[in-house]
Amino acid sequence: MSAVPKTHRRVVLVRRPPGEPAESDFRVEEVPMPEPRHGEVLVKVAYLSLDPYQRGRMRDAASYAAPVGLGEVMTGGIVGEVVKSENSRFKVGDVVEDRLGWQEYAIGGAPSMRVVDPSLAPISTANGVLGMPGMTAYFGLLEVGQPKTGETIVVSAASGAVGQVVGQIGKIMGCRVVGVAGGTKKCAFVKDELGFDACVDYKAEKDLDKTLLAACPKGIDVYFDNVGGEISDAVLRNINVFGRVALCGSISQYNATTPPTGPRLLGTFVGKRVRAQGFIVTDFAGKYEPAMRQMGEWIKSGKLKYREDVVEGIDKAPRAFIGMLRGENFGKMLVKM
Ligand code: NAP
Repeated sequence: MSAVPKTHRRVVLVRRPPGEPAESDFRVEEVPMPEPRHGEVLVKVAYLSLDPYQRGRMRDAASYAAPVGLGEVMTGGIVGEVVKSENSRFKVGDVVEDRLGWQEYAIGGAPSMRVVDPSLAPISTANGVLGMPGMTAYFGLLEVGQPKTGETIVVSAASGAVGQVVGQIGKIMGCRVVGVAGGTKKCAFVKDELGFDACVDYKAEKDLDKTLLAACPKGIDVYFDNVGGEISDAVLRNINVFGRVALCGSISQYNATTPPTGPRLLGTFVGKRVRAQGFIVTDFAGKYEPAMRQMGEWIKSGKLKYREDVVEGIDKAPRAFIGMLRGENFGKMLVKM
């Protein structure tokens, strides 16, 4: 192991953007290396996870989680190696995962920190398919969407960290799976490499309703909603009686300066007896372990594939994050340190 340097870099939030974030909303700064105290560890970060929820933490608004303060390190999940330990749960050399922020080294050791088994899959997956996004897909689809064999599932942001896993689990469940994604490359990937039955390129299609109906000849039984907005309006207009909607996220609105208005579709929910439920992945925290084991087995047997989009260097994090919110990422967005 190389010696721990005297300083390291981190990214702090310096401004709350009203709409789309800019690189100037962040500052990359070099600071002295922290020293772990009793009960703490020092972690050398290997990968930082960039996720849409981090846009919400830039806003000073009531939410299920507290905002990042101005001048504070941006929040984010990491996977890394313990390089100093003052905590008997972790030893030097352990690979660990926790939400330690956008920085090259971090103090950890909280109860939320878990040891990652590097024999399961590459350690970057602890931020993706075998981490928060993977658990979101697993529980959001199976427990909230409750698909049955032979049903049709539609998932939006289909090539992304959550969407790609949702669709593949849907196939394992014996369902027809239709993705919605932006661009021919993303659609070809989910169909040809991940085995979805069809994919609708919402950026190219003029009539989303018509294309969705053609891809879903028996209608839509389960909608896994990652995006909200017009895509979701089109899916909901075509949902079946007793359909289910797993409300996972609404990324199409995360940079909006005013709450968007749109067609009011709640009448559909009544007439078709649709059940929609929002969820946060941590609702299922007590069940992660067996789910991770199951997902690990699916990866080993080749039933579950994953795609990552990796940029290198902490200074690239703000630009990559802004790009992800625009759909420029192709797969789980990660920063390799
Ligand atoms: P991701 O899909 O890897 O990346 C974001 C993707 O969103 C982009 O690649 C882009 O794909 C799509 N997108 C961006 N702007 C859009 C727009 N205006 N309309 C439609 N699609 C747009 O991100 P992820 O980590 O998997 O997250 C997906 C969703 O799940 C987000 O809404 C996130 O907040 C949510 N989430 C929720 C939970 C929870 O606990 N409820 C946990 C994790 C994630 P295209 O190029 O295909 O448009």
